[in-house]
Amino acid sequence: MGTPHVKGKHRRKARRRRARSRICLRKGCGRKYLPRCWNQRYCLEPECQRQVRRWQAARRQATHRQNRFAKARHAQAQRAYRQQTKFASQVVRHPEVTPARGHAAKVSLPLLCDRPGCYEPPVTSIRNPARYCCHACRRAVHNVQDRERKWRSRGTLDGRTKRAYEYQAACQQRLRRRSTSASLSLRAPPE
Ligand SMILES: [Zn+2]
Ligand SMILES: [Zn+2]
Repeated sequence: MGTPHVKGKHRRKARRRRARSRICLRKGCGRKYLPRCWNQRYCLEPECQRQVRRWQAARRQATHRQNRFAKARHAQAQRAYRQQTKFASQVVRHPEVTPARGHAAKVSLPLLCDRPGCYEPPVTSIRNPARYCCHACRRAVHNVQDRERKWRSRGTLDGRTKRAYEYQAACQQRLRRRSTSASLSLRAPPE
């Protein structure tokens, strides 16, 4: 007689997932902690929190210093430009020779790695200004940003679709890695 009626108590309850322990984001801490809220990034050790505040202050200072430096450089470039145009006012000017105004001053690189607690300078190249000193720092911050992004998009259709794609890709990658490592071990000479 039709589908059985599912009573309230038999219905599967939406389980509240227990929070997984996290590893403190601060470089050099490495403590595990149970988060109290979704966007907690650090452990609750007072010493660690003090260190994070210290790093934030150092970074603010570095940014401030760099802004000052950029401003000074910009002013200098402007002065040089004015001087040059004064001398060259009588001469025919070639546009490709005129210096770019203020472009150099716009480039401002952070002096500290972007990972909290890291005092190393980021690896910089003119073409690709990096924000982190090493792969580990970049990975650590990206993992946290990824987790927070997933949390923000949870429950939305967009978020669910994206997550499904991500899990699928991760699964395929795992399989691929497993098959390559299997073939490598097959090819390895016997000891
Ligand atoms: Zn910590
Ligand atoms: Zn770093």
